Amino acid sequence: MTLILGVDIGGTDIKLGLVDGEGEIRGSGKISTRPAEGPEAAAARVRAWLAESAAGAGAIAAAGVDCAGLVDGERGFLHVSPNLVGWKNVPLRDVFERALGVPAIVENDANAAAYGEWARGAGRGMKNFVCLTLGTGVGGGVIVNGELYRGSSGFAGEIGHAVISADGPLCACGNRGCLEALIGARAIVERAIGMLRGAGGSGNAWGDSPTVEALSRAAASGDAVAAAAFRETGRWLGIALANVVHILAPEAIAIGGGVAGAGDLILEPARATVRDCVMDGAMASVRIVPAELGNRASFIGVSLLALGRLNERR
Ligand SMILES: [Zn+2]
Repeated sequence: MTLILGVDIGGTDIKLGLVDGEGEIRGSGKISTRPAEGPEAAAARVRAWLAESAAGAGAIAAAGVDCAGLVDGERGFLHVSPNLVGWKNVPLRDVFERALGVPAIVENDANAAAYGEWARGAGRGMKNFVCLTLGTGVGGGVIVNGELYRGSSGFAGEIGHAVISADGPLCACGNRGCLEALIGARAIVERAIGMLRGAGGSGNAWGDSPTVEALSRAAASGDAVAAAAFRETGRWLGIALANVVHILAPEAIAIGGGVAGAGDLILEPARATVRDCVMDGAMASVRIVPAELGNRASFIGVSLLALGRLNERR
């Protein structure tokens, strides 16, 4: 049995998965990232986890490593990551190959998640598929003709930074009105608080620092302001998705990530907006569905990408 180690590096935790050739998870775990200690230290902790917690599973044949940010998979470099301060122009592939002693690949986390969802989740069996990951940031990944589409720069799929409202709020990337600035977790909370104040409320009906989860619980139990905030969020998402449909005409667009836990509170208005905005009824047949693999999508996807690369070399 071929085993691949998937390493999904977030700002706080590294999620680890031992994935077999069928995409089944044979073991998983979580360790701290501690980005300030640098990539070599993180890779050494991954090696230690493998030795201590996963020794019984057998030897790994390759590793797939993913994180948020601009990742050059071709050259194995991480240029810059919003979550990993100080990890600039890091030869991440080399770092992990040295630490683990097996061939490695690196990939953007949203690309990895899209590939995982396409191979084993909401996009199974499709030729053309798009996956968006909604959280603090908004990531995207695109599958065209059964392959991950990276574009000429290697950075394609950054749907979170498509400009949806030219004069909209400032985005972390420096532009205005990016999808991420309109529907990222912080934007949703600010929208809800703004609406509450506009309606004469105190602004802290959901606690001092409400979360999207708290807001979706409130909306589900009849809170009209929270529901309206999700409706507007879904409308912005729908405008972005209509653009995606016009450019790529995928069979389905899957929506994952923590914010997607709000489910139909966001997805229903998004679907309605897509129906309103697309040029032709035939294009509106695109399915907008919840992602299926949860926070395992990235390490499953990046493992299968690593397996594909390994098979090419053999
Ligand atoms: Zn942006």
